[in-house]
Amino acid sequence: MTHYQICTQCVMDTTDPDLLFNNQGVCQYCETLKIHYENTIARTDMQIAADLQSAAALIKKRAGNAKYHCVLGMSGGVDSSFAADLVVNKMGLNPLIVHFDNGWNSSIAVENIKKIVTKLNIDMLTYVIDWDEFKDLQRAFLYASVLDIEMLTDNAIYGATLKIAKEQKIKCIVSGGNFTTESGLPNAWRWDKLDAKNIKAIHRQYGTRKLKSFPIYGPWKFIIDRSFRNFHYFSPLNIIHYNKTTAMQHLKNQFGWQYYGGKHYESVFTKFYQAYILPVKFGIDKRRAHLSSLIRNLEMTREDALLEMSKPPYDDLVLKQDIDYIQKKLELSADEFKKIMATCPKKHTDYPSDYNLFMKLKKLNSLINSMKK
Ligand SMILES: [Zn+2]
Repeated sequence: MTHYQICTQCVMDTTDPDLLFNNQGVCQYCETLKIHYENTIARTDMQIAADLQSAAALIKKRAGNAKYHCVLGMSGGVDSSFAADLVVNKMGLNPLIVHFDNGWNSSIAVENIKKIVTKLNIDMLTYVIDWDEFKDLQRAFLYASVLDIEMLTDNAIYGATLKIAKEQKIKCIVSGGNFTTESGLPNAWRWDKLDAKNIKAIHRQYGTRKLKSFPIYGPWKFIIDRSFRNFHYFSPLNIIHYNKTTAMQHLKNQFGWQYYGGKHYESVFTKFYQAYILPVKFGIDKRRAHLSSLIRNLEMTREDALLEMSKPPYDDLVLKQDIDYIQKKLELSADEFKKIMATCPKKHTDYPSDYNLFMKLKKLNSLINSMKK
């Protein structure tokens, strides 16, 4: 049996198979990210305001006379909601909000988006995915027993956002992604979101219908968009000292925004995936990584994080209701679902994958970018 160890500063433990500890029992994330957090926390309001203004000036210059300065994907969760407020009220930008509807958005998330878009008086476009196709993909991934079922949504959000940006001639892609609350997520707990070959291969093996409209996005499209179409990617939350606790309070006060109970729980499926499928089938509790980033950002003590980890990720009654709901929506019988949960996990690379190609293309992209400078 592998030796169990937990970091002395955060709550990451050896359920991440790649976790390393120094002599003081501190994990590599706490050690390598320390400087980032210290630098972020030390920045003054004046520096932050100046950086936001110069970023806004650059985005406006690139946009020229276009109606929208940028496109911003919004889930109704805290990060993207806060980013929308920031780009409008602190940067003076006019974003086109893109909301991705894969059939799993919670009503709280949808209400949150409405409240923010209405009060900020900005335009929104909802990208509705073909539910029968998406259901077929999710079922295929469940049958394939691979870890990252959520790469389907992430891949499609990427593809849909870029598609809309091209249609609307928008050059800047803004996201609520941020280093502060999302750093330190182990590679072993996710898969490359742009591995289109993997998605197609798994669907070919376990799917039952043709994919006609799924906005699949792979490494070739990525490299063309990134290197030759001059898309500019911007994460405003990385400029400020982002603090999730104060961001939530701000959203509640300003917009009547509501919390939905956990990181990425704005989607009913994501909640079920993170709080049930991942811990039960794969032995992974993503709360560890999320809470650890809050500890590093001085938003939470290690004691409070340990207390949170001691609670089950699901309330028993809610779990029973959610299992029923998920089975019904994905048209799986109780037996089929039990069988899926009992099947041994498989690696994404047990199926054809773009992974090696993607690594090579990333290196090529860095080379192109370094030559541009
Ligand atoms: Zn740590």
